[in-house]
Order: sequence, then structure tokens, then C-alpha cells
Amino acid sequence: MIAPRVRTRGLVLRKIPYGESSWILSLFTYHLGKLKVLVKGAKRPKSRFVSTFETFHVVEVVVGVKETREIQHVYEARTLVTLPELRTSYAKQVWASRLVRAIELLVPERAQSRGLYSLTERSLFLMVKEGHEESVFLAFVLKALRTLGYPPTLDRCVVCGRRVPRHLSPRRGGAVCSACGEHEPVLIYLPEPGIRTLQTLYGSSLGVATQVPDPGLLEPVLRYAEWVTGIDGLTERVLGPSPPPAAPAG
Ligand SMILES: [Zn+2]
Repeated sequence: MIAPRVRTRGLVLRKIPYGESSWILSLFTYHLGKLKVLVKGAKRPKSRFVSTFETFHVVEVVVGVKETREIQHVYEARTLVTLPELRTSYAKQVWASRLVRAIELLVPERAQSRGLYSLTERSLFLMVKEGHEESVFLAFVLKALRTLGYPPTLDRCVVCGRRVPRHLSPRRGGAVCSACGEHEPVLIYLPEPGIRTLQTLYGSSLGVATQVPDPGLLEPVLRYAEWVTGIDGLTERVLGPSPPPAAPAG
């Protein structure tokens, strides 16, 4: 039986050499979610795909989809967006890599989430082109949690309704004040004005994040995400081996 072919837009998360001349790619796509594809002969200099698939490229692909197959086949491909800024900025590469690792960890294989795909692509473009990478990334994580079924309550203490909670409680599913937090087994502290910044990033459109100074809240928010999703080591794996780049003076 011929596998149905699906044309979709996707982000290249990772490429792994396969045999002498081929690549296996991990793609996050609009129509098919996250999946692995085999691109035969892509490493040959004359391959029509030779420079199509680089990490962080946005591509249009035609994929033959067979449910019984773990790795799908690519029949057509072209590059849509290349993000040349990433070649000249190590800091931007670090942030783009964090975004890719977050997707690899948070999104199950073949789970469809068009909303999450669009959020991912827009977050990547904003980080690369507009800056304020931490704010954009935080907005991405908070909005991704909502899409994945863990919407955090941030506008008030989940327990008593007070307006300026200072902690996150994974068990309560969001922010709690100090008094209510005393009884929580896991409590993640957010320094002021942490919660207000998170409220802004979560409640506004993604583009607003490029106006918000980086608040230094990446680690507590990732720890919260790690607890609610139950993904072991999420924080360290997303942050990666390199320290966050120093903010420019001024
Ligand atoms: Zn409270």
C-alpha cells in the first residue's frame, strides 16, 4: 500500500548522519507534530537536499506517512527560512538550542499540536530577530504549558486569591502566596517583581515579550515545568551545558 503523502511546514530540530550518504532528521511540523524522517542521499554534493536541512531551518516537506513505520520518508523539500543571524551570534545559538531541546522534551512523538508549532516558530523568530531572548523564551514556556494541558494560574494565589503571590506550587498548578505556600511540599520562590513579569508574559501576545527586560526567572519557571510535566531533568537539559550569556551593559 502506498503511504499517503502530506505536505507540511516544519522546523529542523536535529540531524543525525545515517550510513554513508543519508540523514535522519528530527522535525517538528505543523501538520504531523514531531517526527523522524529519512532523507536518502542528502549528504551527496549533488543531492537536491544538500543544504535544505540545517538545524533551525524552517522547511516545507512532503512526507510519506506510514503509521507502522518509525522513520518516515521525505519526497520533496525546500527551505523557507534560514535565520542567518544564528551563524554570527553564539548567544542566539544558545537560546535557539534551548528552544529546540524544550520541544524535543515536551512534545511527544507524533502528537499533533498546530498551536504549539506556531508558537515555537514565532518564538524562534522573535528571539533571533528582536532580542530579549529570555523574556520570549519564558513566554514560550508558559504558553506551551497551557497548550500541553498544564495552564498555570499566575494572576492570584491559587489558594486564597491574594494578588501578589511570590511562589509557584506545582501541586496547586500555579502561584501561591507565602502563607498558603507553607503547606506545600514543593515551593519555588520567585523574587519580586517576578510574578508580575510572568503575568505579563503569560497574559499578553507573544510579541509583547520583546518589550520586557529579561527577568532572570528561567530556572524557577523551568523547575515548575519539570514538576508539572514530570519530565526528569527538564531544567538542566533545556538549560544545556553552557552558562547563560552575559547581558550587555546598559
Ligand atoms: Zn494564598
